[in-house]
Amino acid sequence: MHKNNTQGQIKNIVIVGGGTAGWMTASLLAKVLGKTLNITLVESDNIGIVGVGEATIPPIVNFNRAIGIDEKAFIKATKGTIKLGIEFNHWHKDGERYMHAFGSIGKKFPFCDFHHFWQKHQQLQSGSDNIDGNSFWDYSLNYQAAKQGKFAPIKQIPNTNLPGLAYAYHFDAGLYAKFLRKHAEGLGVKRIEGTITDIAQDDKSGDINSVTLEDGTSISGDLFIDCTGLAAILIEKTLSTGYDDYSHWLPCDRAIAVPCEKTDHIEPYTRSTAHKVGWQWRIPLQHRTGNGLVYASKHMSDEEAKALLLKNIDGKALAEPKIISFKTGRRRKQWNKNVIAIGLSSGFFEPLEATNIHLIQTAATRLVKFFPHYGINLEEVNEFNRQSKTESEGIRDFIILHYKLNNRGDSEFWRACQRMDVPESLMNKIQLFKKTGKVFCQPDDLFTETAWQQVMIGQGNIPEDHHPLVDTLSTEQVDDLMKNLKILINRTVETMPSHDDFLHSL
Ligand code: FAD
Repeated sequence: MHKNNTQGQIKNIVIVGGGTAGWMTASLLAKVLGKTLNITLVESDNIGIVGVGEATIPPIVNFNRAIGIDEKAFIKATKGTIKLGIEFNHWHKDGERYMHAFGSIGKKFPFCDFHHFWQKHQQLQSGSDNIDGNSFWDYSLNYQAAKQGKFAPIKQIPNTNLPGLAYAYHFDAGLYAKFLRKHAEGLGVKRIEGTITDIAQDDKSGDINSVTLEDGTSISGDLFIDCTGLAAILIEKTLSTGYDDYSHWLPCDRAIAVPCEKTDHIEPYTRSTAHKVGWQWRIPLQHRTGNGLVYASKHMSDEEAKALLLKNIDGKALAEPKIISFKTGRRRKQWNKNVIAIGLSSGFFEPLEATNIHLIQTAATRLVKFFPHYGINLEEVNEFNRQSKTESEGIRDFIILHYKLNNRGDSEFWRACQRMDVPESLMNKIQLFKKTGKVFCQPDDLFTETAWQQVMIGQGNIPEDHHPLVDTLSTEQVDDLMKNLKILINRTVETMPSHDDFLHSL
């Protein structure tokens, strides 16, 4: 039953910060709850946005759709490209590579996953797990399309019930924020430009009452969304919420980013290349390629990082390399008093699996689900915080997995990662997979069993056993299954246009 009085109603929302987090949140709130709320967004042109964050994961397709964005207009405006997965080079050993391809692999079976059949097939052929031989990825439509530079938005493999391509985007982060700003303003969001220099709290509750700009303008609100990036001016500088530091598992604390000239062909996937210390991203856009090196300052100086990055880019650098310092972890409470932190103000994961923009999307969606129209309940806040903690810990474990399973040994950085104690939840997953080939995810987990299988197989954690169900099939039946799947996938990829042609067609 709704309360009838309007006292304590939450109607005036102030979003502080206009980067990807601010404008994504503003767009979703305005689209879904705009009729019942007054939404104001404050951003400072002087401070600007972090301006990196160019790779995403498939749920963004639905997010854009939900806020009413036309896909073609979005790809054009953001100089976007398609992303079908992430190729990991030299992560297991120098010279080896694998892909975390989006979507499914092989065929879905009711009691055990496809890779058990693949493994049996490998044994029968006494082949290797070499990605260029009879590899797990021969049965991934996404992998095959990615490596052949193909793309078409197909929902299913024709004449089958096998799923089509799962995709996300690479885009120019600055252009995405601009595009979203126009969209959100069109939905009624009011934008105020200025730098906040003062924040007023309620004496008793400690809630934020208002923020004040340099010129003295005061903006009051019932609920404040802190999207101020690494500055976290409300959630941390004002409310001292605290931070769970994950850097003992994820030791990289710096990134250096530089765009370079584009290559002739635009590959529809991200590349992550491990170096002696840390790793390098390569994100192809329509007009340039985004590059960056993520490294640990304890093991590599900024000068060395800069030289290493500039030596390993495809074309002429288009700007001075920019260094960003960070501490991996998460804000202890994403929602504290009448402040909800979204984006970098709520925590940071290195962009290895492109999860930060996704976390903006899920936090904004959660906020809509939990929206406190008639005042804030502690129970609601606690549940919101519990869900965001579980989500972050799942992502944390998946990212640590890549480091833990490295077999490089060419520097103390990688050797320390091999030796480190990882969270128990992760260790159990690694060992269970090794012994039985089984991996289980929770319904709310972002990364699917197929994602875990790819990273574990790709990094050499090969199961010692397979599910007994597989042995109920004869050798011929397993052979036929594999052969037919390969034929279907290859035929489908053959008929797809190239990714370059797809982009031209826009
Ligand atoms: P910002 O972009 O920093 O925006 C902060 C906003 O707050 C700005 O508008 C600023 O003006 C405003 N502000 C701050 N202080 C004040 C003040 N006092 N008064 C008024 N306004 C203020 N994510 C991915 O999903 N994929 C990736 O590939 C990826 N790569 C990344 C690589 C690096 C090196 C880094 C650092 C991050 C990466 N991310 C990635 C994360 C991604 O960039 C961010 O999650 C995303 O851009 C959101 O940033 P934000 O909006 O929280 O902060």
